[in-house]
Amino acid sequence: MLPGNMMDRPLTVPSILDFAAEIHGDARVISARVEGDVHRYSYADAHKRVSRLAHALRQLGIKDGDRVATLAWNGYRHFELYYAISGIGAVCHTINPRLFEDQILYIVSHAEDRILFLETSFLPQVEKLADRLPTDLRYVVMCAAEDLPETALDVLAFEDLLKGQLDTIIWPDLDERQASALCYTSGTTGNPKGVLYSHRSTLIHTMGLLAVGQSIGLSPERSLLPVVPLFHVNAWGLPFAAPLVGTDFILPGARLDGAGLFAFMDEEKVNTSWGVPTVWFGLLAEMRKHGRKPEGFECVLVGGSAAPKPMIEEFEKDFGVTVVQAWGMSEMSPVGSVNSFYARQRALPEDDRMELKTSQGRRAFGVDFKIVDGDGGRLPHDGVAFGELLVRGGAVMSAYYNDETATASAFDEEGWLKTGDVARIDPEGFLFLVDRTKDVIKSGGEWISSIDLESAALAHPDVAECAVIAVPHPKWVERPLLIAVLEGGANVTTEELKAFLGDRVAKWWLPDDVVFVDALPHTATGKLSKMALREQFSDYTLPGI
Ligand code: AMP
Repeated sequence: MLPGNMMDRPLTVPSILDFAAEIHGDARVISARVEGDVHRYSYADAHKRVSRLAHALRQLGIKDGDRVATLAWNGYRHFELYYAISGIGAVCHTINPRLFEDQILYIVSHAEDRILFLETSFLPQVEKLADRLPTDLRYVVMCAAEDLPETALDVLAFEDLLKGQLDTIIWPDLDERQASALCYTSGTTGNPKGVLYSHRSTLIHTMGLLAVGQSIGLSPERSLLPVVPLFHVNAWGLPFAAPLVGTDFILPGARLDGAGLFAFMDEEKVNTSWGVPTVWFGLLAEMRKHGRKPEGFECVLVGGSAAPKPMIEEFEKDFGVTVVQAWGMSEMSPVGSVNSFYARQRALPEDDRMELKTSQGRRAFGVDFKIVDGDGGRLPHDGVAFGELLVRGGAVMSAYYNDETATASAFDEEGWLKTGDVARIDPEGFLFLVDRTKDVIKSGGEWISSIDLESAALAHPDVAECAVIAVPHPKWVERPLLIAVLEGGANVTTEELKAFLGDRVAKWWLPDDVVFVDALPHTATGKLSKMALREQFSDYTLPGI
């Protein structure tokens, strides 16, 4: 090999904010705060506070590789934590507050978090768990000392930490392959699994977004509001892509319902927003009520679940908001494909154009796709053949964090990551998801494990066999339907079964309906065939919808 003669400078997360502060210094970060007001500052101001926070973290004893957790909304302090923690070589572990208590307890101890930064609104939740959290975990509440709520916990105030610290910093020499962030995904059965991102993977992912940046609102002349939470998969990479491009970054805090979002987007004249379909249903209802879109709203990026065609049509035809769909997963940093159109696609006849908008899009730069049959053989990208989608790339996970069991089944023999999604890919590279191999339901952007629900239902003495599948729902996109075969002679009602499950699973996991059948379909090897069941129930609609 003839080595290239170029400097070997590492790709690091703090270099993004250094760049933003210098080159896009006056671009704005605007946050709706839980305190009720709106906070405004620039990337240059953010850099100063990040420097102070980084010094404070060191004083608290945080060292290279330590995990520091956050339980917070989309706001400037959370944004600062992203950079200060990973900038000093530690790992920013964002916790999804919507996980069950046991899952939160599991991940804090699995990650061995040293400090938990939490928003005031999550204090009651943490107080409830405190007895079962590690005794050496320290707590910092993300507010000023005077806004600290009464609490029996031993807490520090975020703003106190910053006092007296230097507002400049020379970052340590970081290895681009070292970990920068950690996020747990709770998809399938069992404990949540950790995805440990590196500085390098984060930069590669950011570059992939920038390659299609113009079509997804990443421009120095545009403002962007992530509804996607900073507490899950890095808000789809936006806290890195937005400052690198110099986009005004508008953070909605806890104002995530249709009315709150409409008002905030309207006030701040947000051009682009990213989120899951459930959020957009709420916003669309509000837009209908007002008979208009929020001022300045031009483009919406929909991901996390399939964008339903009526939603795409309403945004585009009734309100003139361009819809771009994206697909990805936590294990991929997360964006794997973006449905950005070029002139040729924009010029298609209306019906064809709308149909193509339902595609999950074309692969992002740095992500390779293959679809395979049941034996792992590659299928053609001819728009017809479909099989499981596998991916590889510089921003794709190579193992779950400290979890050999989960890692063992996540990859194929060539080392590609199995996505659990079933897809076809057309000759131009457009991806269409058609099914899932993973046993999960995605309700309002959050996972429900069908296997766990089935086990809970099977604990009922009168249930002989059962299956849970996802069925369409106008607000939550998917909801669980329980299909059960009863023991001969048994007579259980839907309500009785739901009440039984109510003691065993979270309320929002409860199936919306129960259908009793004589038999369930099985494959040749005797396994329950969810594919056949989904086909059988393809015309099913939930009661009252
Ligand atoms: P998560 O790891 O929680 O981000 O979930 C990743 C999974 O969400 C994917 O493997 C898909 O099953 C699903 N998903 C994400 N984006 C889309 C989309 N645009 N259309 C359909 N399913 C999606």
